[in-house]
Amino acid sequence: MQTFPLFLSLQGRRALVVGGGDAAARKAELLLKAGAQVSLVAGTVGGEIAQLISEGHISWAGRTFHDGELDGVSLVIVATEDEAEQARVSTSAQNRCVPVNVVDRPALSSFIMPAIVDRAPVTIAISTAGTAPALARRIRAEIERTLPAAMGRLARFADVFREQVRRTLVVPRARRRFWDRVFEGPVGELALAGDEIGARRELIRLLDGVRSETTSTGMVHLVGAGPGDPDLLTLKAHRLLQRADVVVYDRLVSDEVLSMARRDAERVYVGKRRANHCVPQQEINDRLVALARAGKSVVRLKGGDPFVFGRGGEEVEALVKAGIAVEVVPGVTAALGCASSAGIPLTHRDHAQACVLVTGHLKDGSVDLDWQMLSRPRQTVVIYMGMGALQQIASQLIVHGLPASTPVALIEHGTTERERRVVGTLATIEGQAQRAHLTGPTLCMVGEVVGLALSRDQEFSFESRMGL
Ligand code: SAH
Repeated sequence: MQTFPLFLSLQGRRALVVGGGDAAARKAELLLKAGAQVSLVAGTVGGEIAQLISEGHISWAGRTFHDGELDGVSLVIVATEDEAEQARVSTSAQNRCVPVNVVDRPALSSFIMPAIVDRAPVTIAISTAGTAPALARRIRAEIERTLPAAMGRLARFADVFREQVRRTLVVPRARRRFWDRVFEGPVGELALAGDEIGARRELIRLLDGVRSETTSTGMVHLVGAGPGDPDLLTLKAHRLLQRADVVVYDRLVSDEVLSMARRDAERVYVGKRRANHCVPQQEINDRLVALARAGKSVVRLKGGDPFVFGRGGEEVEALVKAGIAVEVVPGVTAALGCASSAGIPLTHRDHAQACVLVTGHLKDGSVDLDWQMLSRPRQTVVIYMGMGALQQIASQLIVHGLPASTPVALIEHGTTERERRVVGTLATIEGQAQRAHLTGPTLCMVGEVVGLALSRDQEFSFESRMGL
């Protein structure tokens, strides 16, 4: 985070605007909306500003800027095109630690003006840390579209009950759950629709219901985090992450996905590496049970899909045995994510009538697969955790009948910005993999369909970009 977001209270405080044109008028209006007392320094004043002055909304402090103008000022916005004056005001404000923004000059500014979505009292500020204001405006347009204009009404409605709810539900977690139910259920819908009486009635009913509930056991949601790209999360996964008290995650979960969790949710890392199990499965199971028993809403976040080589089955069993409610939310498994991002169709009418997902890593460290079945023609074989045994896998497939020229793709960190692909054949892939030093999670795909992607996409060539 390059800048620190916050919302400044300007009610009744002095703010200074330097400049007399339209840009200055827009900034002055914004400051007035936030309740500031606005004074202006400008050589000449144009249409809109002149009107604001004549109507008494802002005061014209002078024609040229002097240091003294900053006395008692909480914020300065410079909207003049005079570069010498921009620099002078910026230096003098920063010397006195008065926050200053010079329009379109991030280097002279101590704070950035965000793009704003105003659904007062709900206010959303968007910043790209000065790198791409146009992008910030696009994001704003997107949010404007999805956020009902009546959102402010909902927030004001909630504010009326805030104290009462705080007194009734003293445990913060219970309060948070209550408000989740308010905003997601009929109360929120009625308030948004303007039926305040109906919304009040529903809210009181809900509050009574929650008050009489005894402290209940929590629940565990076993959630698929997908292969890395946060856009591939399901809507349900996203919603649960926003509500979780605790997120228990491991190594495959990308930082981008983890950052979707509620800011103050507790994050528990139970990662493990191949041949280096940091937290034994039994301990993870026990921890999930203990957290749920403490009444927490737990999201157990797993890379890809929880039920595809994710030991999700074992965790569900342990939870059910302990009497904990559990829900499984599917995720995009690595095979699907990597296939899409590399343009490899897993099945194809002419080339592959089946797709087999296998693991190249077995419990005791050996690879004991049904080679006969895997070496059948006209199918795609996708190998998870296969990098340690790649040589053995490739040679067994050849021994059992697949041509040595069968195309193979290795995809590391699929669907993320760090994705790398290495493409070769059963005969060449092991050497290529060694030269590429693939240390991240890597998926191996074997079959004619890999060749299809090759012939279609120039960039995806046998002499990969790394010259392997
Ligand atoms: N439950 C997960 C798989 C866990 S096993 C899923 O459904 O995807 C771990 C293996 O998955 C890794 O060794 C690697 O082979 C594969 N994998 C997971 N994420 C990957 C990614 N983003 N890119 C490539 N392979 C990945």
